[in-house]
Amino acid sequence: MNIHRTPDPIEKLALVGDANRFEPVGDRPQAERKPSAAPLHFVDEPQIPRSAADIRPCITHVSTPQGKKPILKAMMTTACERNCYYCPFRAGRGEMRRVTFKPDEMAKTFHQLEQARLVDGLFLSSGIINGGVTAQDKIIDTVEILRRRYGYQGYIHLKIMPGAEYDQILRAMQLADRVSINLEGPTAQRLDRLAPMKNYYDELLQRLRWAHEIRRQAWAEAPGLIRASIVTQFVVGAVGDTDVELLSLTGNLHRLGGLDRAYFSAFNPVSGTPFENLPPTPAIRERRLYQASYLLRDYGWDVEDLPFEPGGNLRTDTDPKTAWADLHLRERPIDVMRATREELLRVPGIGPVGADAILKARRQGRLSDLSHLRKIGLRGVERAAPYILLDGRRPPQQLSLFGVG
Ligand code: SF4
Repeated sequence: MNIHRTPDPIEKLALVGDANRFEPVGDRPQAERKPSAAPLHFVDEPQIPRSAADIRPCITHVSTPQGKKPILKAMMTTACERNCYYCPFRAGRGEMRRVTFKPDEMAKTFHQLEQARLVDGLFLSSGIINGGVTAQDKIIDTVEILRRRYGYQGYIHLKIMPGAEYDQILRAMQLADRVSINLEGPTAQRLDRLAPMKNYYDELLQRLRWAHEIRRQAWAEAPGLIRASIVTQFVVGAVGDTDVELLSLTGNLHRLGGLDRAYFSAFNPVSGTPFENLPPTPAIRERRLYQASYLLRDYGWDVEDLPFEPGGNLRTDTDPKTAWADLHLRERPIDVMRATREELLRVPGIGPVGADAILKARRQGRLSDLSHLRKIGLRGVERAAPYILLDGRRPPQQLSLFGVG
């Protein structure tokens, strides 16, 4: 007979392990994929932790708006009544031992880890048992305890469950620094093939709209009450989704839906799921999607500007900004002394900071040489060189070893 003793909280966290490591929590999502390799420091605390390996898989060192932090990635339960085809926690998958935390237990465990200086931030998600509203209540109860009983003021990122109520989203946004409402797919049809029990419009998009509305209202009526940013995540490449679909939706949500960031998670097959035999999505596709989404969010690009291939995906052999510049600027380079900020932002190697530095510097004198651009702090001078004019001329470019500019 196989008898399991009841695992303690640290063992339970370890059982959540790195199964949720494809869920990004910080500002540099691609850097978060590996479990933390940083050494952990031990304190004379009888319960926490017994060995470095115990909790390392649950901690990710990530960049957050408050700086780089060790974040505990945890779930209230790894049991779930839903059957999303890509998910290790899906109902009926027999390969894993499920664990469940009570709000008190999760809050206390996090508090002890935080007091031991092992973590400084929490990402809290959950499987769904008895509906999304019940799961959301448990997440919120945990964070209420953390904020009120333990006085924790640090970084918290909460998952909004499919079907959560308006008031739950409001409370989550009052308590957290960031909330995720994961759309998973770019259209209802794609979601249907990824997660047939999730309802795209009602359970997900509607909740995203509420979050946006809550923040807009709070900013108008009680500034400071809501500080949470709003993010979403897509599973990329499992069901034929294209980059143009993903980026069209992302662009719209940035412009009109209050979305602060989209996470793109390249699909990775999980054994024991219906998608176990599908090929993984190459990481480079995810990277190109991030680059393109920054162009939409921070550079004033429209989705129509992005150079998609005929199949609707971006090229993977070069970044989207360079691909666009090769098509449009090689023959008609941009005059650095005359270009608008928007035009400067089209040039590879010139970002918002660089564009502002150029605008400021050229009010004070001529920028007629690549060395002038270096002097004002432009980091991507070599990348920019093929696409600009300085003093009405193309600047000399360094020849590469293979004669390719
Ligand atoms: S609802 Fe969440 S935890 Fe449950 S199967 Fe779907 S993705 Fe996994």
